Amino acid sequence: MIIGILGAGQLARMLALAGKPLGLKFIFLDPTPESCAADLGKHLIGDYTDKALLTQFAAEADIITYEFENVPVEIIHFLAESTPVYPPEKALAVSQDRITEKQFCRNLGIPTAAFATVSSLADLEQAMTSIGYPAILKTRRFGYDGKGQVVLRKAQDLADAWDAVQNAPCVVESFVPFDREVSIIASRSVSGHTVYYPLSENTHEKGILRLAKNTLRDPLQAQAEQMINTLLTALDYVGTIALELFAVDDQLIVNEFAPRVHNSGHWTIEGSETSQFENHLRAIIDWPLGATNSIGYAAMQNFIGGVPSSNKLLSLSQVHLHLYDKAARKGRKIAHATARTDSLENFTDLIALLTELAKQSDDS
Ligand code: AMP
Repeated sequence: MIIGILGAGQLARMLALAGKPLGLKFIFLDPTPESCAADLGKHLIGDYTDKALLTQFAAEADIITYEFENVPVEIIHFLAESTPVYPPEKALAVSQDRITEKQFCRNLGIPTAAFATVSSLADLEQAMTSIGYPAILKTRRFGYDGKGQVVLRKAQDLADAWDAVQNAPCVVESFVPFDREVSIIASRSVSGHTVYYPLSENTHEKGILRLAKNTLRDPLQAQAEQMINTLLTALDYVGTIALELFAVDDQLIVNEFAPRVHNSGHWTIEGSETSQFENHLRAIIDWPLGATNSIGYAAMQNFIGGVPSSNKLLSLSQVHLHLYDKAARKGRKIAHATARTDSLENFTDLIALLTELAKQSDDS
């Protein structure tokens, strides 16, 4: 069976690495010639809007999926006329616009931060009278890893913030005073069978994920599963999904969801019975899904802009290194390492070591 993936970055690479043992073959469509998944399958190089290339891609793939959520919905629509595409178009459309996404969650009874639509500086000034400080102004579309976001601390910040987003349609939302940031990842198959991963506890800096670690028996697990199940059902979802949440006391508040495999689930490769990547493939093919229980403690550290030497990392015998075969560039995720162990004490030490090593090589 041939799986087509739009995008050939590290997520596509990890999907292909998970699919090879299952006998799957891959075709990627990505405009960048030196894409890091390219040597794991056939690579069609060209623009995502090239109809002839899309037609060839759809003809060669048995099932199509994507590794990033900024794929234009029209492209998914076009491909789906001839070949099944998962996750479904609706999930992509909802997640691409922060306002639509928040409204969708609200309508399902899933809590979000207070928010308002902003199309002008006057809108922003008006909205801030009810949202209150601090708050965050975010572009509605094409924002990721904290890009297209400005923190608002006082009324004097508004004009500069509006300049910074360059008149793009925005959402302004209240700053959530969270105790923790967590995410829940789930996979749902074509037949509707759903599995949930243990909550991941995530640390971000400058809006970028740095560290994600599994939780064992988190008190908020049931609440998160209920939320994501509501979302999966409403979207008639197929594939792996990630829901990013803020934990405030014993309440979860949705930040956003990603209709794809997610950086906060990379620890599932070594830390779970079945990884998020393998379950995504099993879900879209409609094969039975694998168990999602954790195998001990697991934490993933991202390496951004630079990576410590392999020798140094691999001298930690419970650390597993994933180099993405991407050129180092400031602010670019180029590798991650996962620590996996059965001892909590050892876990804490390994996280501290990885964090320190990442700081030394970080160039973000
Ligand atoms: P996002 O691009 O929306 O995922 O935001 C990136 C990061 O910025 C989040 O993971 C949080 O650390 C922070 N952030 C975003 N929105 C809020 C908010 N409303 N309240 C507090 N922190 C936020």
